[in-house]
Amino acid sequence: MRQRATRDQQRLDSGAVSSPKDLENLQREIASLAKRQGDLEDIVLEVMERRESAQERVAELTERVGAVQGKIDDATARRDAAFEELDGEAASVTKEREVIAASVPADLLKLYDKLREQQGGIGAAKLYQRTCQGCRQELAITELSEIRKAAPDTVVRCENCRRILVRTSESGL
Ligand SMILES: [Zn+2]
Repeated sequence: MRQRATRDQQRLDSGAVSSPKDLENLQREIASLAKRQGDLEDIVLEVMERRESAQERVAELTERVGAVQGKIDDATARRDAAFEELDGEAASVTKEREVIAASVPADLLKLYDKLREQQGGIGAAKLYQRTCQGCRQELAITELSEIRKAAPDTVVRCENCRRILVRTSESGL
C-alpha cells in the first residue's frame, strides 16, 4: 500500500497526469491511501500494546504459579516430617503399651480390651471429682460409697458406661 502511494505520488509529481479529473482522482486516491495507512498503523500499535500487556500478565501468572508451587513444596515437606514423627511416636507408644500390658492380669486386660472396643477406644477412665471421665456422668452417692468401701485392688466400674474406673487422690471419694 505504501508502494502504491509512492507510485501515485511520483506520477503526480512527474506532471504526466494532465487532465484535471485524473489529477483529482489521483489526489483523492493518495489521500485515501494515507488515511488507510494511518488506520493500519493504529491497529498495529494497538495489537503491540495488547501483546505487551498479555506478556506482562503471563510473567505475573508464572511468578504466582512459582510462589504457589513453593508453598505446596513447603507444606508437603512439613506433612512428611509430621508423618515421620507420628510413626515414631506410634511405635514408641505401642512398645510402651506392650510393656504395661505384660504387667496387667490377663482377665483384667481382656475386660479392658473388650470395653475399649465397645466404648470407642476408651476402656478405662479416671474418676475425677466424683465424675467418670469416660462418660462425664457424676456418680450416684450410693455408688460412690460402694467404691469407697472397695479394696484398692478391686476393679470398679462406672455404673453408667461400664468403663473401668481409675481411682486417684482427686477422685473426691
Ligand atoms: Zn462412665
